[in-house]
Amino acid sequence: MPADDKRTLAAAARRYLAREADAGRGDLWTLAAAETPRKRAPRTQSTIEETRPLEEMGVGLEDLAVPSVSPPGDTLDQVASEVTACTKCGLASTRTKAVPGAGTGKAGIVFVGEAPGAEEDRRGEPFVGRSGDLLTKMIQAMDEKQVIPGVSLSREAVFIANVLKCRPPENRNPLPHEIEACTPYLVRQLALLQPKVIMCLGKFAAELLVGAKGTIGGMRGTVFRYGDAKLLVTYHPAACLRNPNYKRPVWEDLQLLAREYQTP
Ligand code: URA
Ligand code: SF4
Repeated sequence: MPADDKRTLAAAARRYLAREADAGRGDLWTLAAAETPRKRAPRTQSTIEETRPLEEMGVGLEDLAVPSVSPPGDTLDQVASEVTACTKCGLASTRTKAVPGAGTGKAGIVFVGEAPGAEEDRRGEPFVGRSGDLLTKMIQAMDEKQVIPGVSLSREAVFIANVLKCRPPENRNPLPHEIEACTPYLVRQLALLQPKVIMCLGKFAAELLVGAKGTIGGMRGTVFRYGDAKLLVTYHPAACLRNPNYKRPVWEDLQLLAREYQTP
């Protein structure tokens, strides 16, 4: 493309963004952007861009087997009650409440995060702290903009889950053996829900469900598969709170979700 055309295009894009900002659409999740990020325990093993092979995380392929049918009689309530009583890893002794997941999933969409934080641990519900406020706004924005025509979206209509069901102390990263112990619950939930689309929020959900190491930057935009579901990847809401520049790619990924939802 000639340089002049590029400049014209860039100027048009800037004018468009300015108009969007004037119309109050420039910032997708305004309130959350103004907040300061919560403190997180220093990452001991990996930063957000580093990669670790799944085998090193102690998670083998057999853990990721995708059952197309659930064990007879299995239900989301059954999984939740097992999670609530679970002592399969050390997080059982530091949690306040386990956080099995929430929502009906009847819209056919599942969001999978990393692990409960402080507020989730207090309330036993996923994504109800600062990251949760942002996720809620993202879902509301999808609904308001009718990104999937005719499908109303809310926290209740989707299902919101995590890789780990119990809070790691001081929000440290999940450890390999914790992921290994907890993954069967998520696998059962996904088998019961049979979603159309799964959206991984952040590296831990992404690497687990994609079944390969990688960065969010490298994985987003690709449509993976998890059983019959389409599997997408985007930045964790906490990353958006730390750096609002992540919000636009996240919004693009939600639009990709909407497109993939509507195609076979
Ligand atoms: N972050 C997560 O990954 N999950 C939650 O439930 C809350 C914050
Ligand atoms: Fe059980 Fe998972 Fe909680 Fe560990 S994190 S105690 S495996 S529910």
